[in-house]
Amino acid sequence: MDQILVIDDSPVQAEFLRSLLVENYEVTICSTAAEGLEKAKNGGFSLILLDIIMPDMDGFTMLRELQETAVTKYVPVILITSLSDVQNEERGLAMGAVDYITKPFSPTIARARVNTHIRLYHYQSQFRRQAMVDELTGIANRRRYEEDSVIRWREAMALGLPFSICMFDIDKFKLYNDTYGHPAGDKVIASVARQAAAYFQRATDFLARYGGEEFVAILIGNDAGSAFALMRQIRKAIEDLQIPASSPVSPWVTVSMGGVTLTPKKGDSYDTYLKIADTMLYDAKNMGRNMVIWSDAGRRQWVEDKGTPTPEEEA
Ligand code: GH3
Ligand code: MG
Ligand code: MG
Repeated sequence: MDQILVIDDSPVQAEFLRSLLVENYEVTICSTAAEGLEKAKNGGFSLILLDIIMPDMDGFTMLRELQETAVTKYVPVILITSLSDVQNEERGLAMGAVDYITKPFSPTIARARVNTHIRLYHYQSQFRRQAMVDELTGIANRRRYEEDSVIRWREAMALGLPFSICMFDIDKFKLYNDTYGHPAGDKVIASVARQAAAYFQRATDFLARYGGEEFVAILIGNDAGSAFALMRQIRKAIEDLQIPASSPVSPWVTVSMGGVTLTPKKGDSYDTYLKIADTMLYDAKNMGRNMVIWSDAGRRQWVEDKGTPTPEEEA
């Protein structure tokens, strides 16, 4: 059942709204703006009915607060008020309230409007999710990657933190599809994504499906050695899933990984480093697959299990 938050300092008004909606919705009532804001920020509401005149904060200020908070940003707000002049209605709608209901109102019309906005909210949420999430794997899609990578790159530059890009790709996957079929291949892509995603738990970590059977990961704050170590762990975890494959590389499904770590400086271009990561991946493919090759932006290269000392081994 959808949850509606009613924020109104008048208990009579709030109860009236509840009585209109309680048959179809779970209604929560808050009698102050402060309490309403706190409840709203806990999430879970599909609609907020907001009174404009309240003693502790007016509805317009509250509306702005809700729009600036990530959790409530997209939750539709209907202003309900006895302010019936056009200017206030204009102001409310211009600020992004989805509707404006003036008291006294017809219960049937108010209910119909609530129903409509909740329906629209669901369409919109679904659209937003689909637009940013890869359907097959549930991780971020290419579109989200394009948006996020730029933001993260700028963040690392501003904070002077090391930034890592890793590209990885399932080995000999064409052969897998040819042997087991495309639907089975899809399952493998989803399993690989799920296994990798388990290792990206920090808020600054990012993993996306780059396309087909290719993934891209971004880390902020890890030095080259620790990024390389993490990716080796993930490569191994994917192999350890022991998904049978008819591949010349291994009896199991494997991935090759290439990455780069640098501390971005003004004038550096993200694409240059993405290309380096891609070159490292290409090298990993050429050197036998099922391995990680890492660069620290030009000076050195680390190759997994191929005789080159890893940073920890050197230390
Ligand atoms: P390599 O080790 O060099 O990466 O070899 P590969 O066969 O994996 O590389 P190639 O790029 O030649 O083939 C990629 C294959 O991945 C071809 C394509 O059929 C398959 N593929 C791409 N996207 C999907 C997908 O969404 N589902 C499935 N099942 N297969 C996909
Ligand atoms: Mg491949
Ligand atoms: Mg590929």
